[in-house]
Amino acid sequence: MRLATAEINIPALRYNLARVKEIAPSSKVMAVLKANAYGHGLVKIAQCLSDADAFAVARIDEALALRAGGLTKPIILLEGFFDPSDLPILLANNFETVVHDESQLLAIEQSNLEMPISVWLKVDTGMHRLGIEPEQFDDFYQRLKQCPNVKPAVNLMTHFPCADDVSNDFTQVQIDVFASLVSDRREALCLANSAGVIGWPDAHFDWVRSGLMLYGVSPMLDQVGVDHQLKPVMRLKTRVIAIKQVNVGDRVGYGGRWQCQKATILAVVAMGYGDGYPRHARQGTPVVIKGKRYGIVGSVSMDMISVDVGENAAHIQVGDEVEMWGPTLPVEEVASCADTIPYELLCNVTPRVSYEYCNDE
Ligand SMILES: *Cc1c(COP(=O)(O)O)cnc(C)c1O
Repeated sequence: MRLATAEINIPALRYNLARVKEIAPSSKVMAVLKANAYGHGLVKIAQCLSDADAFAVARIDEALALRAGGLTKPIILLEGFFDPSDLPILLANNFETVVHDESQLLAIEQSNLEMPISVWLKVDTGMHRLGIEPEQFDDFYQRLKQCPNVKPAVNLMTHFPCADDVSNDFTQVQIDVFASLVSDRREALCLANSAGVIGWPDAHFDWVRSGLMLYGVSPMLDQVGVDHQLKPVMRLKTRVIAIKQVNVGDRVGYGGRWQCQKATILAVVAMGYGDGYPRHARQGTPVVIKGKRYGIVGSVSMDMISVDVGENAAHIQVGDEVEMWGPTLPVEEVASCADTIPYELLCNVTPRVSYEYCNDE
């Protein structure tokens, strides 16, 4: 019998990609697959996204794993390359690189490449993480254009730090800065992450880069996937492995952090931080058993969590399935109970969890 399992709903994944295209109908879609496709399984997810126009990853190893898995679509390296010696690997595997720093530009200019490489010049319009300053744009752009190692179309990119909040004007400021820089260029422009897709139609341009929303999760503050007609792709589930009666005054779990105030029954479920469930989930963070929500009690252990199923829990038995997050319990909600974001919970699912890819709705 399988315990901790991530059930991956492939039709929901495909549906979410169709939603991206419906929301941004004039844009091509880069499906963002970094961090093991946000914990969903890199190659498997890529194989099911045949309708995407390209894939995007953060690291070269992720891109190589896609090629090793037989995937032939364009792959964009969102952080670019890290050393001049990476360049032949990029060329041999037909990877496109972001250029966000002078060291990368120099490496490309000074290399002796057999073929030109496809480049995305990344401009920092206000996130102050990766990207060249707007004042450097003309210099970088001209140098890339003139460099024989670079394919003639120099694509352009920027990234949003606050697009999840539609009341924050900063995203519009970034769109305007970017648009003014690139006004007379004919190259492909790419600005929007998932929050840009949903919240900022002016940011769609030629390409969008969607990650989180493909997995059916809301990128917008205080909303869940269904608010945007997205369908959660992952259902993280396990089973009840013990039932225990506790009485007033009993302390439960490591550190005895939860004390029983009223006699009740606990269901012990096989899921813990060793599976990627957040150890900081608050007392009362919900799980779903037999269609009903119950709250966790005590500290999350490596392999187990206790759930207060109430004094009238005779219908709950060893072997019952427990949903930790998924279609009936949004991962956004669990994330907020653990003071984190759904991105982190999804990425943190560990290799101990088994994956089941389901092709029926
Ligand atoms: C991760 C990432 C994305 C995707 O973001 P989502 O919010 O998951 O859509 C887009 N662009 C860059 C540069 C990223 O690093």
